Amino acid sequence: MSISLPLPPLYLRLSVTDRCNLRCLYCRPDKAEDTLARHPSQLSAEDLLDLVELVNTAVPIYKLRLTGGDPLVRPDLDKFIRKVRKLLPDAEIALTTNGLLLSRQVKALKEAGLDTMNISLDATEFGMFEKISKVNAFDDVLEGILAAKKSGFKSLKLNTVLLRQFNGQSLHELVEFAADLNCELRFIELMPIGVASDYFKSEFLPANEAMELLQPHFGDPIPLGLKGTASRYLFQFRGKKTVVGFITTISEPFCGTCDRLRIDSRGWLFPCLHDYDGLDLLTLCRTAEREQAVRLIQSVHAEKKSPVQEWTSQQMVRIGG
Ligand code: SAM
Repeated sequence: MSISLPLPPLYLRLSVTDRCNLRCLYCRPDKAEDTLARHPSQLSAEDLLDLVELVNTAVPIYKLRLTGGDPLVRPDLDKFIRKVRKLLPDAEIALTTNGLLLSRQVKALKEAGLDTMNISLDATEFGMFEKISKVNAFDDVLEGILAAKKSGFKSLKLNTVLLRQFNGQSLHELVEFAADLNCELRFIELMPIGVASDYFKSEFLPANEAMELLQPHFGDPIPLGLKGTASRYLFQFRGKKTVVGFITTISEPFCGTCDRLRIDSRGWLFPCLHDYDGLDLLTLCRTAEREQAVRLIQSVHAEKKSPVQEWTSQQMVRIGG
């Protein structure tokens, strides 16, 4: 007789759109080659909710992160969060955003039940911001960050992708900016996914080198150990302090402890960013026997693979990071 043990709960990352109001060079292709912009995919709130419900039936979700594209380009985001909150009353609901539309939405998002937020910020100066994101929107993003800070989320973090030739020489400014705001900062290693594979050779900056670049400015930070996927350090300087995490996806992969599943903006399920092939969960959800769909999700979660060399052929803007 075989006894099947319950699967451990999972962390679901749901890409709610592949539309975005920035065009970060490592995340989506140039305008001329951007087929996603010509054929955007954005499921209805009902479809998204069905997918979340199906996954939660298969394996309980302890954390749901909404990502994209930029989730805030959906005018119905707060209403969607309100419904997800009802469906997952005990799960952490998190959002990743570029912050551009945040100042006018943050209150509604918080009231709808959003718990935590990560805001992406690759530069603290408008010229560099525009070089990376190709949009002159630095002031709006700053306004969004300040509004989010005022709103008192359980956790508010800033995310910075390490780019050798763009922000590599100004990482200390990001640390100081985060310290002034009293926000945790995460430096993320560039992954060679989609369009980023064109930049990987010239722009990849490993976390240990980033640390060396910060050393002359702040000395040696105090190691705080691992939290989730981030190796965290306490930086102290001029009477200020801030926690900085490094996400070492490339230099020290953490696949062995990863408990995430991802759904892209078309409703495809991916166990990993290393996977070329996903599972068309939306079609399964609409057509298959529900029990069959539940079993498939369970087996995808149970058989999360060890790392392979290939990366998904998806653009990041569709799968959501
Ligand atoms: N638009 C939102 C934002 O800017 O945060 C959410 C989607 S974005 C794809 C999620 C995160 O993935 C951002 O922090 C972004 O900087 C990061 N990202 C995108 N492409 C990446 C890559 N090739 N390597 C590492 N991180 C990447």
